[in-house]
Amino acid sequence: MLTGFRYRLSLTDEQAERCAEYGDICRAVWNTALDQRRQAVQRWQRGYDQLFCGYHLQATQLAETKTEETWLRAAPSHILQQTLKDLDRACRDHGTFGVRWRGKGRWKPSFRFPDPKQITVERLGRRWGHPKLPKLGWVRFRWSRAPKGAVRSATVSRDGEHWYVSLLCEDGEHTPGEHAVPDAAVGIDRGVAVAVATSDGDLFDRTLQTPKEHERERRLRRKLSRQRKGSNNRAKTKAALSKLTGRVRARRADFSAQTASVLCTKNAVVVLERLNTTNMTASARGTMDAPGRNVRAKAGLNRAILAKGWHGFKLACLNAARRTGTRIVEVDPAYTSQTCNPCGHVAPENRESQSVFRCTSCGHTAHADVNAAQNTLSRGWTGSLSG
Ligand SMILES: [Zn+2]
Repeated sequence: MLTGFRYRLSLTDEQAERCAEYGDICRAVWNTALDQRRQAVQRWQRGYDQLFCGYHLQATQLAETKTEETWLRAAPSHILQQTLKDLDRACRDHGTFGVRWRGKGRWKPSFRFPDPKQITVERLGRRWGHPKLPKLGWVRFRWSRAPKGAVRSATVSRDGEHWYVSLLCEDGEHTPGEHAVPDAAVGIDRGVAVAVATSDGDLFDRTLQTPKEHERERRLRRKLSRQRKGSNNRAKTKAALSKLTGRVRARRADFSAQTASVLCTKNAVVVLERLNTTNMTASARGTMDAPGRNVRAKAGLNRAILAKGWHGFKLACLNAARRTGTRIVEVDPAYTSQTCNPCGHVAPENRESQSVFRCTSCGHTAHADVNAAQNTLSRGWTGSLSG
């Protein structure tokens, strides 16, 4: 089973500079190669040309260009080839015109060393470890846990002000054929007020940002909006802001992973609501022709939804399930919050408030999110694994 181990790097100034340079080169290669692909598709659509092949042609051209262009030579060949491979994959998955440009401000630098033969990982005493990477040499990181298994590849990326390395390792383990508790199942309601409510009545939540941090973020955003584009001060504000949001992202990922691990260890089946978060946000943003309706109201809700990281939670569940053998089921979430679980009565009035559910037909009362989670469970779980 492939598992990622992520460490924060402690780079020398020279190494950090070189990483930034590699990131820039990969971004340029990505954008150039994407432009080339788009033009080829357009020529082909107009009937001028045959559709050129993807990765292999571009890799050959890259190798040729590298002998002429010195700025390209600064980066290890493997990470550039990997960039072309990633682009190829992205174009297959999303279509050539669905793949995004990598903008300087928008894309977080990231590049992968795909050859395990070129990566050596060693431990330095109790607290530090260091992998050796092509051209970068030995890079230090804090040995927070040992990577398990054989290293397959290493990805270096920047998040906020820090650089990280992710070691992808094959640990030789397999997903168990049967869960340790084969009869246990749980339904989940992912909410705005409480991040995760379960059909067992458990509520999981965590404060991702302290009021002080929230206030600081608000002030920084206001400051940013007043600063001139491209100015040094604006860059400083941006750096401070990304440090702040990076902390929130880390806490959210941590929360999702821990909650998912608890739920998957205890249950053979985890039922989630199928939530199309992309559509939800798109409707608020609207399009050029049809501006979104209820933009303000929806934008507020969307922010709250996204802030709780629904999508990230599902991914965390899928990841935890690989180790426990849990089945993740998704069901239609329509009316789960208005339906009484014991009697099935559906009415908006059932939901007395954000947190209280009181059935107007049978009088059943429960925590609103827990009732919704029980409905989710009933829809995805008929009581046997074959069902
Ligand atoms: Zn009822």
